Amino acid sequence: MRDTGRHHVIIGDGATAAAFAETAPSEAGDRLSVIGPDIGQLGRGLAYGEVPADRPWADAYLLNSPSAAVLPEFADWMAARWDEVTERMRGRRPDWLSFGADHIAAADHAALFAPRAIFGDYLTGLVQAALDRHRASGVAVELIMGRAATLDRDGAEFVIGLDNGQRIRADRVDLAPGTPALDGLGSDAGPCAFPMLYGHEDEIAAQVRPGRTILCLGANAAMLDVLRFLQSVLDEGDIRLSVLSASTLRPEPLIWQRPRKPAVEPEIAGSFDTCADLMAAVDAEIARFRTKGADMAQLRPGFKAWMTHETLAALLPDLAERQAVPPLLERRFRRGSHDSIADYRRLRIAGQVTETMGRAEAVAPATDGATVRVAGQNSLTAPLVINCSGPGTRLALDDLSTELLHRGWLSLTPDGAGVITGPDLAAGPAGLRYLTPAVMQIGERVMPFPLYDLGVLRTEAARANGA
Ligand SMILES: Cc1cc2nc3c(=O)[nH]c(=O)nc-3n(C[C@H](O)[C@H](O)[C@H](O)COP(=O)(O)OP(=O)(O)OC[C@H]3O[C@@H](n4cnc5c(N)ncnc54)[C@H](O)[C@@H]3O)c2cc1C
Repeated sequence: MRDTGRHHVIIGDGATAAAFAETAPSEAGDRLSVIGPDIGQLGRGLAYGEVPADRPWADAYLLNSPSAAVLPEFADWMAARWDEVTERMRGRRPDWLSFGADHIAAADHAALFAPRAIFGDYLTGLVQAALDRHRASGVAVELIMGRAATLDRDGAEFVIGLDNGQRIRADRVDLAPGTPALDGLGSDAGPCAFPMLYGHEDEIAAQVRPGRTILCLGANAAMLDVLRFLQSVLDEGDIRLSVLSASTLRPEPLIWQRPRKPAVEPEIAGSFDTCADLMAAVDAEIARFRTKGADMAQLRPGFKAWMTHETLAALLPDLAERQAVPPLLERRFRRGSHDSIADYRRLRIAGQVTETMGRAEAVAPATDGATVRVAGQNSLTAPLVINCSGPGTRLALDDLSTELLHRGWLSLTPDGAGVITGPDLAAGPAGLRYLTPAVMQIGERVMPFPLYDLGVLRTEAARANGA
């Protein structure tokens, strides 16, 4: 077999690593290796993980957008397997099939907020098919179970050190270590506090009781997943959820009607001196569309399609001002699963969900649960505390990313909330590329919306691969 001596290594086993692998440029005789702790599930990562079917919360967590808004082809894939999906979801709590009955009756599967685990099935299928294509064209593909602990340069090559001591040499490396850690709240606060929901479900389920209050720190999509989790393990009347949030903003669902309403077409022109000025214009434009009856299903796609990096650069010529835009824009267009937002609102009206304004500062063990210190207010104590806040401006990157920052191969935006790569995702020496949801700027291109969006991550990976 031909051997070109070229070795392309992809570090990570989530959806971004899979996207890199799918379109990796290669020719017969090349080697392509992908490294991850759960490499048999390449493509799923943190968001689209498979939960054993005997767990009540298997398939409970949903995509944050209608299926076709995440990836249009996914809706077709799901429609083609609709009988299997129905069988799998029958009898599940909460009752996803009943919530989507209207769309299902109209065979409008594109409008459903699909279970993320099912979306993960789709992603793993995509990447496996692509790896088969690489193999068929003569590329030696290897999937390596493990975690890359070190990444160094040795002459013209990279040397990757795995956590099992193995060393791998490569001339090209794509690093996709994924979603930054949450800010660690609750990680050292005893058995009743959890730094996040995902991966802790068994422990949390063991402590959940009818009527026992669960306090969520943060009111984002992860909090809505906590609600779905509780709906799967408790009778709904027994749920007591308390939410501590520094903001009154809540995600809004993208509800697709039939026929679809067209996305809005923003008309903001000119050039602005500051990010604040631009945001004021965006707010005025949102208000104008809202008075005409637009909701998030028309607002978000309209603004996303319009606000390309070129548009942003023209509107806001100052780079430092531009770099402040992504989190502010995202806040205005936050979306979440229709199903869980509807349930959240219903349970809030019923008094089973309560909200407190405030910013959590620290979590400590208490005799009857865990106590949360809240900035400028009395502390809150609850039998169970789950951290649902994102990393925010306290970006908690993994060790490899942090090391790359120290070496100057990557940098941070001035507010520290996002990562900057070189053009085409380059990071430091030629041959190394980097892509995670925390990337906010690629070369001169400031991403108007953050990359916590699979469609955009896939587009950027494919673009860097020249696909
Ligand atoms: C709970 C949740 C729900 C989401 N829902 C949606 C949604 O509905 N729609 C949407 O568009 N986006 C959603 N997102 C955004 C999501 O971040 C992206 O869609 C995408 O899944 C990110 O994939 P990733 O591979 O970059 O990161 P991750 O999913 O975090 O995967 C990275 C993987 O790399 C592995 N890894 C890390 N370091 C190393 C190392 N040193 N060596 C080897 N492997 C390593 C990790 O173990 C992990 O499995 C969601 C995110 C989360 C967290």
